[in-house]
Amino acid sequence: MENPRPLAALRAEIVEQRTKASDLAAEYYERIARKNPQLNAFLSLTRERALAQAERMDALAAKGDPLPPLAGIPIAIKDVLVMQGAASTAGSKILAGYRPPYDATVVERLEAAGAVLLGKTNCDEFAMGSSNENSAYGPVRNPWDTERVPGGSSGGSAAAVAADLAVAALGTDTGGSIRQPASFCGVVGVLSTYGRVSRYGLIAFASSLDRIGPFAGNVRDAATVLGVIAGHDPCDATSLHAPVEDYAAASDRPVEGLRIGVPAEYFAEGLDAEVRAAVERGIAALKEAGCQIKPVHLPHTKYAVPTYYLIATAEASANLARFDGVRYGYRSPRSETLADLYSHSRDEGFGAEVKRRILLGTYALSAGYSDAYYRKAQQVRRILAEEFLRAFAEVDAIVTPTSPVPAFKLGEKAGDPLAMYLADIYTVTASLAGICGVSVPCGTTGAGLPVGMQVLARHLGESTAFRVARAVEAAGI
Ligand code: GLN
Repeated sequence: MENPRPLAALRAEIVEQRTKASDLAAEYYERIARKNPQLNAFLSLTRERALAQAERMDALAAKGDPLPPLAGIPIAIKDVLVMQGAASTAGSKILAGYRPPYDATVVERLEAAGAVLLGKTNCDEFAMGSSNENSAYGPVRNPWDTERVPGGSSGGSAAAVAADLAVAALGTDTGGSIRQPASFCGVVGVLSTYGRVSRYGLIAFASSLDRIGPFAGNVRDAATVLGVIAGHDPCDATSLHAPVEDYAAASDRPVEGLRIGVPAEYFAEGLDAEVRAAVERGIAALKEAGCQIKPVHLPHTKYAVPTYYLIATAEASANLARFDGVRYGYRSPRSETLADLYSHSRDEGFGAEVKRRILLGTYALSAGYSDAYYRKAQQVRRILAEEFLRAFAEVDAIVTPTSPVPAFKLGEKAGDPLAMYLADIYTVTASLAGICGVSVPCGTTGAGLPVGMQVLARHLGESTAFRVARAVEAAGI
């Protein structure tokens, strides 16, 4: 696996004019041209815009002007985030041909920080999935073993960073879609606290759960990118006013004395023995670094998957009502009446998993059922969140495996939606609770597949999560 050069070193090369940002962008596009036909990580490239930005950075460097924090750094953007005038499909046929009239706030912030945005990455349709097999544009392949999935739904972003087709990438995580592909592809992935990063310009899946966050080849780079995209945005009423910390500096702080919680519920039946062994080695490394390891209890964990799949599908059914064949993207050519236009466009435009979720969510919200399902799920969500709050009164961070299994084979779970949903068991809890976390590489299995450790911290505890993740990374397990 190629090891992407650290962001700070690349930036220094550009600032000191040892490398031109435009040459670096060309190098990345050359590698994309070579490797993407097999990996299918990128759906489209934004070459003109990227090269114009790279030239701007080169001009600043040549003048000796101060350069912004991500000057010339090639970054990929998950296709659920909109870029003005660029294809933005969310992995769906229904958005084929849609070119948004504006930039997502995160896109704007990355560009203002000097980043060179290479293009849009493949993902499960509307971010619904755990394997990237639900993309209307074909699956992404895992660079570690191309017979295996990269995870999902942000599989293209994770694979792009793992194969060094981008230095960093943005993904979205609603129930694990950054953390799980990060673990499958051996890269770092960040679940930011709900509200930490503006969702303006994110094509919504489940609005109370959707988060945007970075992938990178190492913890410090991921922390740097989060620092750029985080912060309040008047365009997103749920974005928090809390100050943005220097996450990169925080990630370098020693972990000695930190209290690390280990929940038995995440090391139970269904956990692959090699994943368990790797994560236990990670925990031993934290102990070695001076952390205090303590058991914590999260007894309602077993209810998290059904709770997540009720809330996420209910919100999805409402969010996806806007795709009607009239306003965006695909319109069925075989319609006589307006009702036909709606139903044919949706029938032909949405894939099977998206339809399944719209049906599940509509059912969970329907009169007579919403108390039994949706309301009950909201109550369990509250209990799960409170359980984490109680645990964080005793510990600074909680560590678990990110996924119970390493990357599985393409097609292995595709025919069994329930098996696919159940594999989200370790990631959906933090999504429901709104807390933050990082998935950090933590060794490999005997077959050489990467394993991820999930480090969770309380709301706005990103600095602590990065610090613990960095200690695991430094241990070189
Ligand atoms: N795998 C989960 C799902 O299919 C999570 C997806 C996500 O985080 N976007 O819903």
